[in-house]
Amino acid sequence: MNGPQIRRTPACKAGVRNRTHSTSATNPITAASPAQQLLPRLEGVITTGKGWRARCPAHGGKSASVAITEGDNGTLLLHCFAGCQVHDVLAAVGLQVGDLFVRRDLRSMTPSERSQLRQTALLPRWKAAIDVLVTEASVVLIGASHLGDGEPLDDTDLVRLRVAALRIFDAQEVLSAR
Ligand SMILES: [Zn+2]
Repeated sequence: MNGPQIRRTPACKAGVRNRTHSTSATNPITAASPAQQLLPRLEGVITTGKGWRARCPAHGGKSASVAITEGDNGTLLLHCFAGCQVHDVLAAVGLQVGDLFVRRDLRSMTPSERSQLRQTALLPRWKAAIDVLVTEASVVLIGASHLGDGEPLDDTDLVRLRVAALRIFDAQEVLSAR
């Protein structure tokens, strides 16, 4: 009389052992744009005025919560309105953040393309420098108008003017760097 035996199935599944996940392997450089790489991997893709919407592969759900827009240079911007991180959305379809950017070899660019790329990289710094100049210029203008009216500047004003001068100097450095 054998009672029921507890049989433990050994987790030996030889046939499955060699299966590897190769989806995350980096693709060799192809001519495919980031959009051509990403869109076929998404579900429920619809075209919108500015780009596309699709279902989010990271959190699931039925709604097209991921918005995708393509920049002039082919770079994709991706946003999940449910709050998923870009990196998680991409990982769910075997891509990485770097896949959103057009891979271009600097050597294959013309000199004018290269200089455009450099300028694009500098734009945020230039914008910050211009913001500083606008603010500090008004500090200096106020100081100058006080002096012009024959009103002396007190110590606080003088300190602020010196700070303005330093900030203007820094901004000039940024703007004159090539
Ligand atoms: Zn999501």
